Amino acid sequence: MARPAACLFDLDGLLLDTEPLHGQAWQQAARAFGLELDGTRLLELRGRRRMDCAEQVQQWLAEAALVVPTTAALLAVRQPIAERLLPAARPIPGAPELLARCQALGIPMALVTSSSRQAVAVKTAGHPWLAGISERVFGDDADLKAGKPAPDPFRLAARRLHLPAEHCWAFEDSLAGARSALAAGCRVHVLLPDSQKLADRMVAALPAGCLLVKELGGIDLSTDD
Ligand SMILES: [Mg+2]
Repeated sequence: MARPAACLFDLDGLLLDTEPLHGQAWQQAARAFGLELDGTRLLELRGRRRMDCAEQVQQWLAEAALVVPTTAALLAVRQPIAERLLPAARPIPGAPELLARCQALGIPMALVTSSSRQAVAVKTAGHPWLAGISERVFGDDADLKAGKPAPDPFRLAARRLHLPAEHCWAFEDSLAGARSALAAGCRVHVLLPDSQKLADRMVAALPAGCLLVKELGGIDLSTDD
């Protein structure tokens, strides 16, 4: 297997360890409306878009017979908490090194994220090692018709790099992201969660054809392993 023509990276949960912080923000927001979210429910929110998470929390509030705030009212509580926590997100182990290896090998890179341009700015401000990824597809990208799990984000990234998606390697940690990259035709690497239980659940739900990765440091960019 030749080297990847390009590496297309997801952000949340793949390069930056933001998922626990997103969880904390939802937990504190739900608490403000009288609902305590346990670990299982927080895991259910992972990897999903902000509006989808809001809808889920509203559903849980309704099920608990609590007053259900509007989406705007819920996000008015949640967003400031998230914006305070997210700049403290740490790199996923091995991520800075993987980007450095791409750069050293001259492999083009793109960020393919569902997060908005503004949210990415907040999250990446303290991470100069991410500056090397100059091509970026955001969730609110004007050229994007549909978000993950549709193939559009990865197709758009490949097009902007002037490369066929089939020659690009995608790196994802979520089901929606893996489906998106696979549908776009990329060779898809999926970083599995640390928890064996979650990893088993993820593997069972992943579409066939994904390459499973336990740690980013183990990725070989030059051979088919
Ligand atoms: Mg992700």
